[in-house]
Amino acid sequence: MAEIEGQIRDEELDPERDARRRLALAQIRQYPDAALRMKARPVEEFDDQLVSLAERMKFLMRDANGIGLAAPQVGVLQRIFVFQASEDDVVALANPEIVEASEETEVDDEGCLSIQGVLVPVERPVRVTVAGRDEHGAEVRYELEEPYSRVAQHENDHLDGVLIVDRTTPEARREALGFLRPRIVLQ
Ligand SMILES: [Zn+2]
Repeated sequence: MAEIEGQIRDEELDPERDARRRLALAQIRQYPDAALRMKARPVEEFDDQLVSLAERMKFLMRDANGIGLAAPQVGVLQRIFVFQASEDDVVALANPEIVEASEETEVDDEGCLSIQGVLVPVERPVRVTVAGRDEHGAEVRYELEEPYSRVAQHENDHLDGVLIVDRTTPEARREALGFLRPRIVLQ
């Protein structure tokens, strides 16, 4: 049974699937890449290029075993992300706004395709409504519950250069940053 942890689906993969996952991850910017810290610009042109970007991101997301992926993670500083909006629905959302969030919050462990090997607790509203446009420019709106509400909030953060290490507890942050500190590898 796959467990969903923030942006990542945690499950055992066969060797071929695992090789695909590694190839996909190699195309996703990894912490501390500067693109992950930048604020993305609104999408203005809903053209073929944007549709191809959304398609490419959906493939990468699936191959990487993720349930969400934001454009800055592939080095594109535009406000668009793809995510699983329900059990079997992967969609693209451009210029998203969280228009409603429940007062009720929940703390759960979150991982990120750009911060491999780190899982930190993050508190988020359990229900949100996000509005924006799909990759063709049509207005869309999603009312989401866990775990999909958490993914959408995680992806939305990426568009502002905000990462899970910024959203967690001081202790978990310290531990994660210690793990992520560049290490000298002697070969
Ligand atoms: Zn992430």
